[in-house]
Amino acid sequence: MKHRYTLEPYKGMDCRFMCPNCRHRRNTFTRYIDTETQSYLADHVGKCDRLEKCGYHFKPREFFKTNPQAYVPRFKPNYTMTDKTQYFDTIPQSIVAGTMRGYDKNNFSMFLARMFGADGAIHLIEKYRIGCAKHWPGATIFWQIDNDDKVRTGKIMLYNGKDCKRVKEPFNHIAWVHRLVGKLRSLESRKSPESPKDALADVDNCTNTPVEPKTNLSDYTKNPEGILHTVASDYQLKQCLFGEHLLKLEPFKTVAIAESEKTAIIASMYLPNYIWLAAGSLEGLTEEKCQVLKHRTVRLYPDVNAYAKWHTKARELNARIPTATFVIDTTLTQNPTAYDEQRGVDIADKWIDNKLLEWEVEGER
Ligand SMILES: [Zn+2]
Repeated sequence: MKHRYTLEPYKGMDCRFMCPNCRHRRNTFTRYIDTETQSYLADHVGKCDRLEKCGYHFKPREFFKTNPQAYVPRFKPNYTMTDKTQYFDTIPQSIVAGTMRGYDKNNFSMFLARMFGADGAIHLIEKYRIGCAKHWPGATIFWQIDNDDKVRTGKIMLYNGKDCKRVKEPFNHIAWVHRLVGKLRSLESRKSPESPKDALADVDNCTNTPVEPKTNLSDYTKNPEGILHTVASDYQLKQCLFGEHLLKLEPFKTVAIAESEKTAIIASMYLPNYIWLAAGSLEGLTEEKCQVLKHRTVRLYPDVNAYAKWHTKARELNARIPTATFVIDTTLTQNPTAYDEQRGVDIADKWIDNKLLEWEVEGER
């Protein structure tokens, strides 16, 4: 690694000084500079040219030993922290491949087929690599696949087949594949390993009540669920934007980001001029995830109730990622009805509503 403090390179006599030791009439003294801030250290920290006759050399290390208060930490994110977040676990492609079947039982895919026809649905399934989970009958997996085709995790969700709304009763139907992989690992340690494809089939009985990771060993024996979640918490998760794997196909295309995966997928059919990605949630639009959007124009499509929050976010992202441009699309805020606000519509809800109405009218005829 390059040293932070170096003797100032020679750029003319202006950058040579009188030696504090021999005080020679020629300026024989070179000072140390902080390459981080481009400023000098204290004026006696440096080296005299007159090696034989003077030999004065006061090093930065000695200076900071007696003047620790003068030390300014590097103006960079903490090194160990970024190193830690660099590493992440991934899910084998074979697991993803194993979930890409059984679409006739998948509520979300069947809804896509009703909306866009079978060809449209297949196009979307292949493009976003939408998977099927046995976790709940009819459930869908939205795989988070990054720019290098690495699978970070998968979000399992259940939609109602009739109107494509999420099933939130009697509990919110969301599960994460990396947690199930954790369960798979814990099973493997007890019996012979199964094929990865069985991973998702094997977790049908997994309860959905979140269990806090346990640290007390005696709890493990009492609570087998505790083991499950402790193993799962070993998984080094680094989420990415849903649909990130599509970016490399079209490096100059404008990107659009919705909150939910469902919205991004449906919007990609109505507004195909953008590469549609999803943040996953209101809080999911993070700087870390957005780093892949350098040099892009990015249109943000928050749900109707999230404009203020994403507005602030957009300003922050514009500052942090200066080569990208984040703008908010305001279509939804033009004339939101009270009803729209109450149910927190997003851009896809409008198209879905229209389809539902169309089907209703057709049914009556
Ligand atoms: Zn000297």
